[in-house]
Amino acid sequence: MNQNQADQSIHNSKKNQKNYEKGSLESFASYELSEPVLKALALLNYKSPTPIQKRVIPVIKKGRDLVAVSHTGSGKTAAFAIPICDQIRWEENLPQALVLEPARELACQVGEEIYHIGRNKALKVPVLYGGFSFDKQDFTLRQKTHIVTGTPGRVLEHLKMGTLKAEKLEYVVIDEADLMFSMGFIDEVKEILSYVPDHAVKLLFSATMEDSLKPLMKEYMKKPEFILMESKTVTADTIKQSIYEVSGEEKFDLLLELLIKEKPASAMIFCGTKEMVNVLCRKLGKEQVPTGILHGDIDQEERMKTIAAFRDGRIRYLIATDVAARGFDVENLTHVINYDFPGSKEAYVHRVGRTGRNKNTGMAISFVTADEQSMRKQTENYIGMEIPVAKRANREITDEERKAFFEHLKVKEVKKKKADVFRGEITTIMIGGGRKSKLRAGDILGTLCSIDGVTGEDIGAIEIRDSATYVEIRNNKAKKIQTALSTMTLKGKVRKARIL
Ligand code: AMP
Repeated sequence: MNQNQADQSIHNSKKNQKNYEKGSLESFASYELSEPVLKALALLNYKSPTPIQKRVIPVIKKGRDLVAVSHTGSGKTAAFAIPICDQIRWEENLPQALVLEPARELACQVGEEIYHIGRNKALKVPVLYGGFSFDKQDFTLRQKTHIVTGTPGRVLEHLKMGTLKAEKLEYVVIDEADLMFSMGFIDEVKEILSYVPDHAVKLLFSATMEDSLKPLMKEYMKKPEFILMESKTVTADTIKQSIYEVSGEEKFDLLLELLIKEKPASAMIFCGTKEMVNVLCRKLGKEQVPTGILHGDIDQEERMKTIAAFRDGRIRYLIATDVAARGFDVENLTHVINYDFPGSKEAYVHRVGRTGRNKNTGMAISFVTADEQSMRKQTENYIGMEIPVAKRANREITDEERKAFFEHLKVKEVKKKKADVFRGEITTIMIGGGRKSKLRAGDILGTLCSIDGVTGEDIGAIEIRDSATYVEIRNNKAKKIQTALSTMTLKGKVRKARIL
């Protein structure tokens, strides 16, 4: 495809958007998706497709290459995950889809979403990223694998070592493509694509359409369909934005005042540097306000723990640098506070896009100092609106307000995890013994299916680790299987089985 054709397709795509939205299909059932996928969507409470899903699902089902530009929080992960999970053949042992993400956290988050959508089909969705044992990933890849999600560096390492096999790939998703390029992953992405069979469908998703993406589209994609989701403003209409014009010295007191008076249920507080994140965490700590922190110097495991604690509501306030801004998906995040105004207009959109997601409303409050006014103007031009200025209340915090705030901090609103919706439908059993005792998925499946009243239909994904194996059980058969395992042998031994 040449440049003019690409530009023409983008133009046509803009014209078509309205027609699509008017005449589009309203329920997931209209896409002729398989029963297990429809059931997972119902459990996840995805009642109807979002605008991007309405446009993307039919294109992927047709097997066309695709370039989709869509703002964050629009449901774009599910837009590709739904048709891909639908099309995956469970029987095939080698990966059929590869999803590339620019950061580890994103890879985990997207992998999790795909896993939930494919869960009723027992799809295996390993996530590959650096900083984690290559050998353990290798071991996982030797088991049945349906969809691999990962960051370019580690995915490429596995491809080069032959531990990740590309020959059965039917789909490759390049997600957050603009970020992938700005972070310098272009050469790795190209090299990965050179391993992918020609006929595989290539899907590229990006928050913005940039010229840097065009050569890649030209070289690797076949007549891609273009989908451009334009919102009236770059930031979602569900986000109430405001600015406080402040001096550097005023910021901390203002933040504390806002937290106490507004009592946000949950907030991400963004700083320009990791040093500032650390300083702010210490200062809030001195005021007895607990926070979590996220920045590039914090090791992977700690970052994952913090993200998990923030997601399920054990941490209310998370202070972060931009590392955490892109794509980070937290249910019902009520507030984003830009303690330092972002260094680019795009970063503003990504940061505030953490709230007001998926039809929820959210508040985005930004502090702007005199030095940051020019970036504020650039940002306002970019988002197509002036951000309303808020005035600091001219009164002290009352004792009642302070008391109410600390009471509010004590209440832990532990949020329901996505996985919880499958509880009752799918139960996991942990069996003592795994890789070290040479247990294999085939042995386990065979043994479980030999139990009276248990069939292959009742067994979901089987994950073998070093000394334990996790088996998903459907149709309320977990107790029956646990009881049966207490008297029968598996690879020559009676193994402990625990229902999780
Ligand atoms: P994303 O843009 O992929 O980051 O998705 C934003 C959020 O919307 C995620 O929490 C998804 O789980 C959720 N979501 C995606 N599709 C739907 C849908 N059709 N209905 C309700 N929620 C959805």
